[in-house]
Amino acid sequence: MIFPFIALFWTSVHVVHAWPAKIPIQSYTMPGDREQGVIAAFNFTVERHNNNRMNPFKFAYRNRDMRTSPSDTWGVTKKICDDLEHGFMMMVAGETNRLHTAFLGIADHLEIPFVNWDLSPLLPQEVASSNMEVSVRPPTAELLADLIIYKRWNYVIYMYDGKNSAQNVQQIYTFIQEKSNLSVRAELVRIPRDASELGDFLRDFNLHRFLSNEPKRIIIDVQTSYRQQQFLAAIRTAQFNQHHYHYVVANFDFSPYDIEVFQNGNTNITGFQLLSRERGEYAALKRYVESQKFYASMDKNIDIESRLAFVHDAVLVAKAAFEQTLRKNDSLFHQNFRHGDLFNRGYPGIYCYPKQDTKYEDRPFGTFEHGRAIVKALHSIQLDEKDGTLTGNIEFDRVGLRKNFEVTVVDLVSNSKSAFNKKEIMEWKHSVGFIANRTIAQHTRKQLGDVVSKKIVKVATVLVEPFVMIKRGCETSNSSECQGNERFEGYCIDLLKLLSDRIEDFEYEIFLSAGNKYGVKQPDGSWDGLIGYLLNGGADVVVASLTINQDRERVVDFSKPFMTTGISIMIKKPDKQEFSVFSFMQPLSTEIWMYIIFAYVGVSVVIFLVSRFSPYEWRVEEMANGGFTISNDFSVYNCLWFTLAAFMQQGTDILPRSISGRIASSAWWFFTMIIVSSYTANLAAFLTLEKMQAPIESVEDLAKQTKIKYGIQGGGSTSQFFKYSSVQIYQRMWRYMESQVPTVFTSTYAEGIERVRNHKGRYAFLLEATANEYANTRKPCDTMKVGANLNSVGYGVATPFGSEYKDHINLAILALQERGELKKLENKWWYDRGQCDQGITDGSSASLNLSKVAGIFYILMGGMISSMIAALCEFLYRSRIEARKGRINNMQNLRDSLYQQLRLSFQGGAIAKEGSQAHEALKRQKASSLLPAQYSDPITSEEFMGSTKSAGFPGRYNTAV
Ligand code: ASP
Repeated sequence: MIFPFIALFWTSVHVVHAWPAKIPIQSYTMPGDREQGVIAAFNFTVERHNNNRMNPFKFAYRNRDMRTSPSDTWGVTKKICDDLEHGFMMMVAGETNRLHTAFLGIADHLEIPFVNWDLSPLLPQEVASSNMEVSVRPPTAELLADLIIYKRWNYVIYMYDGKNSAQNVQQIYTFIQEKSNLSVRAELVRIPRDASELGDFLRDFNLHRFLSNEPKRIIIDVQTSYRQQQFLAAIRTAQFNQHHYHYVVANFDFSPYDIEVFQNGNTNITGFQLLSRERGEYAALKRYVESQKFYASMDKNIDIESRLAFVHDAVLVAKAAFEQTLRKNDSLFHQNFRHGDLFNRGYPGIYCYPKQDTKYEDRPFGTFEHGRAIVKALHSIQLDEKDGTLTGNIEFDRVGLRKNFEVTVVDLVSNSKSAFNKKEIMEWKHSVGFIANRTIAQHTRKQLGDVVSKKIVKVATVLVEPFVMIKRGCETSNSSECQGNERFEGYCIDLLKLLSDRIEDFEYEIFLSAGNKYGVKQPDGSWDGLIGYLLNGGADVVVASLTINQDRERVVDFSKPFMTTGISIMIKKPDKQEFSVFSFMQPLSTEIWMYIIFAYVGVSVVIFLVSRFSPYEWRVEEMANGGFTISNDFSVYNCLWFTLAAFMQQGTDILPRSISGRIASSAWWFFTMIIVSSYTANLAAFLTLEKMQAPIESVEDLAKQTKIKYGIQGGGSTSQFFKYSSVQIYQRMWRYMESQVPTVFTSTYAEGIERVRNHKGRYAFLLEATANEYANTRKPCDTMKVGANLNSVGYGVATPFGSEYKDHINLAILALQERGELKKLENKWWYDRGQCDQGITDGSSASLNLSKVAGIFYILMGGMISSMIAALCEFLYRSRIEARKGRINNMQNLRDSLYQQLRLSFQGGAIAKEGSQAHEALKRQKASSLLPAQYSDPITSEEFMGSTKSAGFPGRYNTAV
């Protein structure tokens, strides 16, 4: 009795010790298969399984990297057999080519379950009755057949690079025949292996077919996602017109990236998607793969390929199969794990063929004992996304192919109306076909025509010149030209028209925001104005001068900016500068004029002194009587005259001869040259430009004064800018504006601009430069922009989150920008319609007018008058001298003398006849002229005129000596 008990005890101890053991599974990867990704996906899924304590068993996973030639079936078989001797319970590989025979041979002969993460190349009729294989990648034949029927194509070109294309085409035929009476022709074309040849291949292909107008429907069946990427890149860059082409990417690797790039082009393309990319499991796998070392050196695909998802799901399939097997009999494997080895039918390892085993000489040759049970479980599993699958529902049919799976079909068809392809998203289900009325909402770039049933787009806007204005004459009129959208004009209205030309089915209706409000967040979190309309569904799109800012971007979507601007200052134009009659003095400041006068006097004195001290300025002249006279030309009077003449750029008949005098004069000449040329240079600018002195020239000027009040429009981005600014000066301005009574805030720009115009320069308005510049070009042309912009912002078209118009508007705006349409609009509304001259206000001011130069006329007149007064004085003075010479100091004599002088002045001269008194007097004077002047006795006019009167001079005699 004791023995059986002990035996039982021993057995149970043994079993407890051995189970739960790790179930060994073996994977195989092929060279050139970019197998690191596959191995990483495997590791990730197995580790995730093993780390989950809830799982009743763990996997022992090994991978063998088949470094062998792709046709070495024998070598591969041998390697698998070697591994089997160490023991594993399931084989996982992704083989669709020649080596598939090796895997399948072993699976069938030894009844080893085989999970192929790819698609088995066998046709259903070829599948052996044992049927040990399941394929995780679903077959595409039925889907392709349905697509061809749906599109009613009767000729397709099947481009492939794998082995089993012929079988696939055959299957497609079978399905088409089963489902419709469509007759379809197919042509098989092999794609070259080398990626660098793909471009030439496509070109040659097109060259051979371009004569036929038949549309070319090409099904692309390439083996890996990497190859697919290369092929799609070749299609995108192909330099020929692919208008007649429609490509179908027949595996499941049509990624969101591909959709994005093809949607923006005009290539017709259809792709299939199976992956649930938004699942956390997918993100975790992606992260894991990307964190691997090999990934850094790989040329990145935008997304991980679907193959890795199939590998992931293959592990889940294996797990489900073992769970199912154990569920039926949880002690099934108890005998199989001993001493860390896998035992099959009581012997360690599994042998492919009878072999001499030294340890177990009696080892019979046999298949894997649980193989059939596991395969049976494999065929009955049912997994879906709740079980963590990435490729949807997993079930296998009789021959081990996926069934009841769903595929998203993305159909991008070129569209002449739109800048990008029309996108149709359809759901297809295995053995059901296309499911009507099912579109997927996760994709943002939906096709408007299909999703929206021709609704009128509600466009909200605000009235701001020149963006949106009521047409002239439509303010009160209700005529037909002033109905609906026709009532408005402006930049935004033109922009809307351009958008609707570029976007299919974009019919719109414009309405104005109540209170002309842009929109700010209210204390309770709601929004008013335009943003409020978008949030409460009152508007579908906002096209206005709506500034993109952070707060708004949090609640609505903005397109790319269609215009950039910034907050700027508007003031009333200062009155034109008053020109005094002495404006010609302005080129030099009063200070300089003063210095010039001092310099003039100073230089004259210096020249006087140096001429006095320099012996070279003294002239010695011999007189007739033998004496000498010493004279110097540079008297004080002459010095002043000489210096003045030089300053006026004139010459005199006296010039210094001494070195000292010449140095002083040269210095003065140089000085005058520079001063005069500087004066001349400035003079033109001063006299012709109407300079306006703005009272403030920057925001700093504005902030530091209180004389000019300033304000902004409330309830918009400008007020938000000041309110939340961290810049001290803006904070100060905000506090100032808030504290003002009456308020300096306005409800519209128009109100602010009006205030600037009416407040005689006592109110400045801060508004966006676009509106500022426009107002400055409008009559009465009395406003101006000063200083630089305070910030830089953009205007965007806003849509509610998830709006179907967003992408279309975005693309259309970019296209308009690239083609210069937006610039044209800007010119039309800002510059072409300007009513004011910029800078110089009227053409006449470019030429001099009298008011600016009257001063010089006054000076001229003054000079003339003073010269005449001086002449009179000289005249009187001389007459008085003459009268004194007559030594009779009475009035009669003075009158005579005056009379004589006057006569001489009027007559202009007289002739002294020989023998006359005048002649005698002149003779005397001539004789005495040989004497020094002071000894001579000049002839008096009295003597002269008295004699001419009596003698009657026949001719003229010039008395000027
Ligand atoms: N364009 C601005 C806005 O969107 C108006 C402003 O506040 O100056 O609110």
